[in-house]
Amino acid sequence: MSGRFEARGDVGIIWIDNPPVNAISQAVRVALLDGLKQAGADSAIKAVVIACAGRTFMAGADITEFNGPMKSPGLPEVIDALDAFSKPVVAALHGTAFGGGFEVALACDYRVALPNAQVGLPEVKLGLLPGAGGTQRLPRLVGVEPALQAMVSGDPIPAPVAHGMGAIDKLVEGDLTEAAVAFAREKSGSPRRRVRDRSLTANAVPAGFFDEARRRIAKEKRNLFSPQRIVDAVEAAATLPFDPGIQRERDLFLECARNPQSKALQHVFFAERQVSKIPGLPSEVKPRPLQSVAIIGAGTMGGGIAMNFANAGIPVTLLEVNQEGLDRGLGVIRKNYEATAAKGKLTAEQVETRMGLITPTLSYDALAHADLVIEAVFETLEVKKKVFETLDRVAKKGAILASNTSYLSIDTIAGYTSRPEDVLGMHFFSPANVMKLLEVVRGARTAPDVLATALDVAKRIKKVGVVAGNRHGFIGNRMLEGYMREGSLLVLEGATPQQVDQALVKFGMPMGVLQMGDLAGLDIGYRSRKDRDPATFEARAGAVADKLVELGRLGQKTQAGYYDYPPGNRTPVPSGVVAKVIEETAAGQGIQRRDISEQEILERCFLAMVNIGCEVLREGIAYRSSDLDIVYLYGYGFPAHRGGPMFWAEHELGLPQALEKLREYGREQGPRWWTPSPLLERLVAEGKGFAQAV
Ligand code: NAD
Repeated sequence: MSGRFEARGDVGIIWIDNPPVNAISQAVRVALLDGLKQAGADSAIKAVVIACAGRTFMAGADITEFNGPMKSPGLPEVIDALDAFSKPVVAALHGTAFGGGFEVALACDYRVALPNAQVGLPEVKLGLLPGAGGTQRLPRLVGVEPALQAMVSGDPIPAPVAHGMGAIDKLVEGDLTEAAVAFAREKSGSPRRRVRDRSLTANAVPAGFFDEARRRIAKEKRNLFSPQRIVDAVEAAATLPFDPGIQRERDLFLECARNPQSKALQHVFFAERQVSKIPGLPSEVKPRPLQSVAIIGAGTMGGGIAMNFANAGIPVTLLEVNQEGLDRGLGVIRKNYEATAAKGKLTAEQVETRMGLITPTLSYDALAHADLVIEAVFETLEVKKKVFETLDRVAKKGAILASNTSYLSIDTIAGYTSRPEDVLGMHFFSPANVMKLLEVVRGARTAPDVLATALDVAKRIKKVGVVAGNRHGFIGNRMLEGYMREGSLLVLEGATPQQVDQALVKFGMPMGVLQMGDLAGLDIGYRSRKDRDPATFEARAGAVADKLVELGRLGQKTQAGYYDYPPGNRTPVPSGVVAKVIEETAAGQGIQRRDISEQEILERCFLAMVNIGCEVLREGIAYRSSDLDIVYLYGYGFPAHRGGPMFWAEHELGLPQALEKLREYGREQGPRWWTPSPLLERLVAEGKGFAQAV
């Protein structure tokens, strides 16, 4: 049973009870309608409370209904019934009243809440807009500007803030139901106070407000469809009577639902929920206790990693080889915090608290009590070997020993210790204090509770942990190889760096692939390429970068790479020197430069990545295709509204088309990564999608 009706004297309570989060399923919608009918028919009932059992008010739509048409009665019907109801209705809010749940509350006359409740309209995160009156009621209740902000961000609003805005009438302590019933009793007999009857005055916003909002949101929510439709809906609230406004909202909702972005964003929503489900890791496996952490190496990564723990209030010991290294590392951390403080996002006191949680040291003795040690020293096995042998001697029994290596084998590293079951990879992405991805690399002998602890740590420091198998480059960097080399080859074959980068940025990437090379430093990989046979495509692809390195153009750090970077400016400027290097290198390789279309740029960069992704899946290095999408969304800024590279291949291109294109590029350019993955061949032959890959 999803609901019941209770009469408490002259107040009727419509109870919703649909564990775990009171999602608004068909049965809940029926229960709401039945409750209203019963309360309406009973003349002894003077006012009504809508309350929810369990830990929350209705937390939103029933996500199992997403993949089909909504079963009747729809939520708008419930809301219409609330509008047509004759007695005052009070919503009793606790937990999270999100989406449809908050829209039900908005259709009530009053809202009372516990102080720790949250409300919000997060539909934008699924590429949608509130489609059950939220866009018309919230502006009437709190004003156009705050309502627009709430719906475009989709972020939760704590009850005290919502109270201050006027969205909640009363904050109550203690027994919520009792308080809501008492509140309803006070209002019994009084006429209804429907939000729909409030009018927004014509001058609710300054002239030009909506055009300005559209411009601002186009920048903040680049390429996104639904935030702009939210502006349209709120404009309707400000300019039309209520009923035509609702009609407009419904039309705009359908436009959003039909737009491919909403399917992609829903995929991301489900992918995020899947990613923490680890086959073969039973929920009885409990993480090890974690109170303190140590980091070895205070360089680019070590410093950023230390900040994550300090931000979460977890003490960190930071070890370097010498005082100079420590001072430099701590200096960068302080500068980062101070820059955040300068933006008003941290107080001076918080900066000091966080710095105070980081203890610098030159001695391994200081690590003896750490529950988790993360190594972030130079990327060579010799250095890692020394570090892990020492850790094996000094770390306490049961401490987890993690490496942030990008490419080296976790099993080899684990072999440097007498406790390989305590070793795993924790691969952060640069900048480590910003990027949300954490690849958790499971070694052949990593203990289940060590894996569980790393995933738990990821949550505690607000990262998304994705489990990867132990293979060169794990998931993200392995797929990236195809992407980066295609970018370089396209430049040799005829595209300019800016053409390649602009195509990718237009697609939605935060920066182009060559700009990314400049940011990371073109010297990375220089030495390894020098050892290769120049006839290999790896060496050919790297030839331009190698020449740039030899000219001292290492990327942003030398203010010149594929682009020029004038001092104090990180905006790339096309360079004549580079154009010449490209032409000479192409001529040297006997390449006839040609015009290259935007479509070819996108297909080659992303298909190279996707075909490698198929191999990652086939080899069992990742558990599911959607995990690869999560890696790209959170580690590399792939646009969420495209769903991730694997989703893009399956839903924008189609797997049969992807396979055909791979064969075509293979015929033109040789095998490279164009030999289709057997997994892709099989899926296409069987008419299946990535969800059925494993
Ligand atoms: P970095 O050169 O910036 O920093 C390495 C630091 O380790 C230096 O400060 C160095 O003094 C210190 N160090 C070297 N040997 C040490 C030792 N024996 N004991 C203590 N400290 C020692 O390098 P980085 O970019 O921070 O990379 C560190 C690790 O992280 C590498 O394994 C790298 O592959 C990996 N990684 C790097 C990135 C990236 O984008 N830079 C991303 C993910 C992972």
